[in-house]
Amino acid sequence: SYGLMEGKRGLVMGVANNRSIAWGIAKALADAGAELALTYQGDALKKRVAPLAEELGAFVAGHCDVTDETTIDAVFAELEAKWGRIDFVVHAIAFSDKDELTGRYVETSRENFRKTMDVSVYSLTSITARAEKLMNEGGSILTLTYYGAEKVMPHYNVMGVAKAALEASVRYLAVDLGKQAIRVNAISAGPIKTLAASGIGDFRYILKWNEYNAPLKRSVTIDEVGQSALYLLSDMSRGVTGEVHHVDCGYHTVGMKAVDAPDI
Ligand code: NAD
Repeated sequence: SYGLMEGKRGLVMGVANNRSIAWGIAKALADAGAELALTYQGDALKKRVAPLAEELGAFVAGHCDVTDETTIDAVFAELEAKWGRIDFVVHAIAFSDKDELTGRYVETSRENFRKTMDVSVYSLTSITARAEKLMNEGGSILTLTYYGAEKVMPHYNVMGVAKAALEASVRYLAVDLGKQAIRVNAISAGPIKTLAASGIGDFRYILKWNEYNAPLKRSVTIDEVGQSALYLLSDMSRGVTGEVHHVDCGYHTVGMKAVDAPDI
């Protein structure tokens, strides 16, 4: 801990279990002295999130399904009642029907397109609008994206289109909130084996491909994403907004399969 987040309070959304990227970020924040609130999606996850929250001395701000505005309002009402103001929000939320995270993008249904965009893109805007009201001394908002926003990745399909829209949202929100010293950034994380990732077709192959071809020759961990998030959520990055920061062992810099990479 560097005491970087001493005196800061904020919300972390998207912890499903101890493999979640949001959990890696929450641990890094707590280590650095931040006070945290966590949300969970539905009763099934409540049982997993409650003990994790306790581990960090975090407060559980309740159930939140981002497709239901009343649950978002309830969480922010809890935060306002408890703290009055907040310094940061982590948005680590995405969803798409796993039947459409395989095969061809062209076959995406209208219904799943809408659902994917609603949960994975609009939710950041909806949450930012609430957070803004509690960030009267400035703040930092962070979301999670993936390289499939920039380049076509096998099976990522509609989620890649959603992440492109999410990254554009980061830039528009950064401009809207900049005057109030509220910053909005994204981390583009390399592939990590989480619950959400297990829905993506051939995920193990994608992970291996990254390990063979990323400059650091391995995949990134949730703790490493957490440490990078600490920079974007703390005053260390006070001059940074509207940015998509890659935490991917350098994978996005590479233009071709490594000559020494084994065939997989
Ligand atoms: P995860 O399954 O641990 O987390 C996903 C979270 O989204 C869960 O906590 C789930 O409850 C939440 N969620 C889904 N639908 C929701 C809804 N309607 N309302 C509220 N919450 C909802 O997986 P993760 O990989 O840690 O995912 C976190 C973020 O990181 C996602 O945005 C994901 O796209 C992104 N990301 C993941 C990877 C990876 O390889 N795992 C890489 C880059 C970016």
